Parts: sequence; C-alpha cells; structure tokens
Amino acid sequence: MAILPIVTYPADILETNCERVTVFDKKLRKLLQDMYDTMVAADGVGLAAPQVGVNQRIAIVDIGDEHGTIELINPEIIESHGEDTDVEGCLSFPGVYGKVSRPYSVKVKAQDRKGRYFLLKANGFLARAIQHEIDHLNGILFTSKIIEYVKEEELEG
Ligand code: ZN
Repeated sequence: MAILPIVTYPADILETNCERVTVFDKKLRKLLQDMYDTMVAADGVGLAAPQVGVNQRIAIVDIGDEHGTIELINPEIIESHGEDTDVEGCLSFPGVYGKVSRPYSVKVKAQDRKGRYFLLKANGFLARAIQHEIDHLNGILFTSKIIEYVKEEELEG
C-alpha cells in the first residue's frame, strides 16, 4: 500500500480536463489501490486522480454505505433529477466548506477496473459525492459552486 501526497489548491492539475483511460492494466489497479489507501488515510469520502497528480478520468467514492468503494473510470452522468443543497468539503481545500446545490439523483455510466461498462443509480449524499468527483475530472472545483461558505466549527456531526 502507498499513501500518495494530495494536491491542494492552487495547482494546474486540479483545473485540467483529464484524459480518458484506455489501458486497463496492473498500473491502473495499483493506482486505484493507492488512491483508496490515500482516501482512507485522509478520512475522505471520495478522491479523483488529479488530486494525486494523475491526469486521468479515474475517481473513487466510499461514503461508508452498502455500496462499499465505487471505482469510476471514464464516468459520465447520463441522467440527473431534482435538486438538493448540502455542505461539501474537499481534500484539496483543507478547512474549506460550503453549501453546494446539485441534482439529487444521478445515473452514471462508467467503466470498472477491467474496462467493463456499468450503470449506477445514486441519490442523496452518494450522488453528491459522485458528482463532486466527476467535476474534478473536468477540472471543475466545488469552490466555483459554493453558494454559502460554512465555518468548520458550524459543521454538524
Ligand atoms: Zn474534491
């Protein structure tokens, strides 16, 4: 296992439209494992490859629910519904929290670590985490969507 350094803002890689993954090999599996170790060590619920300095469309999400760790390679949101506003943070913005409005539910098409396509439906907090990570792959940062900043000491739980 390896814990990778997390890239914090500002950094060009965080505002880059990442490249599609075309090779599903051992190197990819190693990166996914390292991203998982890094996310767990940082106590995060998601991590995108550009956050560890890799310009590829790879993200992982684990909100601690029954889905376990979801690996999303070349993910695309193909449907979204509703709207929901909640507080988000980001491992690339230590100490920054803010309210962000996003669709409440999404349907995502992605590939797994072997390159097999799958569909995933998510709503609520899981949908939010997935959308936040997919934004990273497009170089979009949550700070550009914050409608109201929240102080760390005001966070619930
Ligand atoms: Zn983030």
